[in-house]
Amino acid sequence: MITSNDIPLASKPLDRAAHHRTDRVWLDEAFQRPDVLVFLMRNGMPLMEGPASPPFQVGSRREARPRPLVWLGNEAAQYAQGALRLFLGKDRNGTPIFALRVPENFTLEGSLLECVGEFEDMRAAIASLSPLEANLVSTARSISEWHRTHGYCANCGSPSEPVDAGWKRVCPACESEHFPRTDPVAIMLPIRGDACLLGRSAGWPDGFWSCLAGFVEPGETLEQAACREIAEEAGVTCLPENAEYLFCQPWPFPSSLMVGIHVPAETTDITIDPKEIEAARWFSRDEVRRMMAGEHDTAFCPPATAIAHHVMKAWVDQD
Ligand SMILES: [Zn+2]
Repeated sequence: MITSNDIPLASKPLDRAAHHRTDRVWLDEAFQRPDVLVFLMRNGMPLMEGPASPPFQVGSRREARPRPLVWLGNEAAQYAQGALRLFLGKDRNGTPIFALRVPENFTLEGSLLECVGEFEDMRAAIASLSPLEANLVSTARSISEWHRTHGYCANCGSPSEPVDAGWKRVCPACESEHFPRTDPVAIMLPIRGDACLLGRSAGWPDGFWSCLAGFVEPGETLEQAACREIAEEAGVTCLPENAEYLFCQPWPFPSSLMVGIHVPAETTDITIDPKEIEAARWFSRDEVRRMMAGEHDTAFCPPATAIAHHVMKAWVDQD
């Protein structure tokens, strides 16, 4: 049975060694160690070897070319000026790993990295990364984007400052503490007999279908959010008490925790909300199986890097 540890971006997590985050002396020494591992991020994009891929489209059938992450050693210190240094943890050998969030105006031109690679769109990068790298880059992207959009104190409006190796911001004016956010999203597969309900949003490539999904609202459970979203988007009734939790995936666009759910449907008639989705329809298990294998004539589904793929696969494999 598949668990969250089998889902891309969540597997192979690092020892976060969070007790080091407040120790500036240890962090400075670790950053200078000859074995330190550092990668760069700009605008939420990791520095990858070779030329960048063409812009990524949701559900694109294009296979990403394998492109390694550019790993730097302690020479990365020369790029640290003006960058946010994020301590991610230690690998199994105790090697410290950092991400440097370089300023938006940082350019590779004229630096030693000019011919090494380019900053790559994160969605395109995922498929090229090893499981550990995917977890690291995903974590760094979420935190990096949080810093970009949370520069001011939500309590008093003053500029806040990053502390704790990038894992917190504090406000010098009112002393409020602010932490990176993680937003739970239910992503669900309503099931009725030998069929499941999938939807598609406007703007997706022709033939691309995926699970319905939506943010959990204050005051409701994941199961209630799942059933509410199914009713709102597709007009199908499901009961929260029948929902089955499967597994979850951190999804750094920008900071969601996608929670996979199967739930039996009580009704089959579909009434979509056109403001939310473009279409929804029931697919047979055989159709979904062929979609996942790339053998369906008109429909295809998310790649294995997305939790939706595994939510669908878990149902297909039950047969
Ligand atoms: Zn404040």
